[in-house]
Amino acid sequence: MLTACGGSKVSRESLTDTAMGTMVNMTIYRKNASEEEALCKRLMEMVREYERECLSWRAEDSLTAKVNKAGEQGEACRVTGEYAELLKKCRELWEDSQGAFDVTLGELTGLWDLDRQAALAASSGQGEKPQIPDRQAVMDALKYCGGEKLQITDNSVRLEKYCRLDLGSIGKGVALDLLQENLEELSQGKSILAGIFSLGGSVMTWRSKPDGSPWKVAVADPFDRGGSIGYLELTGNWCVSTSGDYERYVEVDGVRYHHILDPATGYPARSGVCSVTILSKSGFLSDALSTACFVLGVEKGMALAESYGAEVLFVDTEGKITMSDGMAEAFHGER
Ligand code: AMP
Ligand code: MG
Repeated sequence: MLTACGGSKVSRESLTDTAMGTMVNMTIYRKNASEEEALCKRLMEMVREYERECLSWRAEDSLTAKVNKAGEQGEACRVTGEYAELLKKCRELWEDSQGAFDVTLGELTGLWDLDRQAALAASSGQGEKPQIPDRQAVMDALKYCGGEKLQITDNSVRLEKYCRLDLGSIGKGVALDLLQENLEELSQGKSILAGIFSLGGSVMTWRSKPDGSPWKVAVADPFDRGGSIGYLELTGNWCVSTSGDYERYVEVDGVRYHHILDPATGYPARSGVCSVTILSKSGFLSDALSTACFVLGVEKGMALAESYGAEVLFVDTEGKITMSDGMAEAFHGER
């Protein structure tokens, strides 16, 4: 869907579509409606291209798929400097989170296959039933996971044999950073004023709304699909990501198995939280830290977020909200 409205001085262009396996929403404000329409379309294509060429483990030609393929033989794989930098940041966060955040969980996430299981659960009653893997298989998969199995040099990446990357925890945030960089370039000398972009659970505000009012970014209610517990009021460039146990899960014998796995156990993280929202200038950090803090729980997660200069909001399994000071300044609760 593409809409443009205006006539007056400021016009707005919006686009909703799917990319990176999720709903993407883009809105751009500009001074002059006549100038280069369909900018959102170009940006959407950029996100798709980045997924295809770098992040996806499905698209055969992506860097991630190539690194994983080389990993089957324990061989090094040539990558771009940018991609190597990204993996370095992931490895650093693996260390700083004491292993809670780990992009080498590919073998384990593949075993759980929670995307597929959640889809099976959604179409329950017909055909195949959702299943969870047995304990031995989980333990076996864990042997091929761990940040220490990932070696990065300037332009090459080597995974230990059978270790696999899964960049599902950072893709959307990294795409927001990509959009931000391109927007800075594209707006040079043009009439583009501001915008807001959402990719699944990650949102970026860019510059300030032309009418002077703050952006309002809703924080999802983990207990009420489609509902929110409140919103953040933001001005300028910010990224907000939420990780929650309600996003992709399957229930077997009354137990919820969700998509954020604890590398220490091989099972969905049970840290006492249902959702974590991170506010940061960086899309990568907001997305990566939301996953990391979910695994770590309130106390350790709060310390990790603080050490990265990010703001954090937790909703625990009782519905209690805990926030960092900076988050409390931006947050307006609805209950
Ligand atoms: P997010 O929704 O951003 O929290 O990312 C969750 C996705 O990241 C999952 O669907 C997996 O692909 C991957 N993942 C699961 N557990 C972890 C973890 N502990 N560290 C890093 N990535 C993970
Ligand atoms: Mg994440």
